[in-house]
Amino acid sequence: MITRRTTRQIHVGDVAIGGGAPISVQSMTNTDTSDVEATVAQIHRLEEAGCELIRVAVPGQEAATAIGAIRERIRIPLIADIHFDSRLAVTAVENGAQAIRINPGNLGGPDKLRRVVDAARAHGVPIRVGVNSGSIEKDLLKEHGYPTPERPDALIESALRNVRLLEELEFFEIKISIKSSDTLTTIAGYRQLAGRTDYPLHIGVTEAGGLIAGTVKSSVALGILLFEGIGDTFRISLTRDPVEEVRVGYELLRSLRIRERGPEMISCPTCGRTRIDLFPLAEEVERHLQTMESNLKVAVMGCVVNGPGEAREADIGIAGGHGVGIIFKKGEIFRKLPEAELLPVFLEELYKMDEERKKQGS
Ligand code: SF4
Repeated sequence: MITRRTTRQIHVGDVAIGGGAPISVQSMTNTDTSDVEATVAQIHRLEEAGCELIRVAVPGQEAATAIGAIRERIRIPLIADIHFDSRLAVTAVENGAQAIRINPGNLGGPDKLRRVVDAARAHGVPIRVGVNSGSIEKDLLKEHGYPTPERPDALIESALRNVRLLEELEFFEIKISIKSSDTLTTIAGYRQLAGRTDYPLHIGVTEAGGLIAGTVKSSVALGILLFEGIGDTFRISLTRDPVEEVRVGYELLRSLRIRERGPEMISCPTCGRTRIDLFPLAEEVERHLQTMESNLKVAVMGCVVNGPGEAREADIGIAGGHGVGIIFKKGEIFRKLPEAELLPVFLEELYKMDEERKKQGS
């Protein structure tokens, strides 16, 4: 049983963060933000996958002004990611960004920061204070050393110093992130930060890696933190199509029984008893499941003898044999079919069950 840490609540558009709100899954586009068509198309794919907040990089004025056109065509709240240039932050907010991610200390001084904060306040836009291991101030590095799992202090002190810059301007609509590319430093850092502030936290491992390494690193760090009740929104960062980040994000929440979205697939690893080419079959079933919304448990198993029993908890399952296969429900055989008919009949039944489940409110 997970007990969430108590935090203040902020709103990014219509998405509540912290204060008991559901943990939200976010991602970041990798298109050129000033290319409105490409960015909107990518965000639409992310929305379909369940992404709830989307961040875009704002490296120049063209990108900052494109935010208006992008926002008009998407459903989820849009966050602008800005480094160093306060004018870009102001332009992004004036063009409709619903949150900004900045590092208040590196915007060029108090006057510039005040202009950004004034714009954010005027438009009701929260600020994510985002520090990472590479952006820590020199004096903090000198005092605390480079962040390590044993001593992540520099990250925390940097984040809190940047938060104070906003608080001094009486701005409190804040969430915080402290990113490291090291799993253990991320865990230690957020644990310490969670004990020092009640602002909501955006958690993540930065530059985590490709699909496998990135998923493992992020799942270990975020899994441990979420299990301890730390974290109010997160991004799984992968060197991949951002849609994969969202899919991994939901699988992580599902594995911790925090949130479920769409069906769960159980599939066996195959073994010497397998008498069917299971991998393409599993991929095909998974492709269909990604379009479904109910919370069905679906099994894809490699043999008719052990498959139904091993996947007894599945609402519906398919198991392949030698030229024949079976469809089973809750461990009981539902139909036995020649291999060629197995997948089409299974999919028909699956879509039927998905519809029924949706009608019952999933
Ligand atoms: S379901 Fe059958 S094929 Fe798959 S791992 Fe179990 S025994 Fe092996």
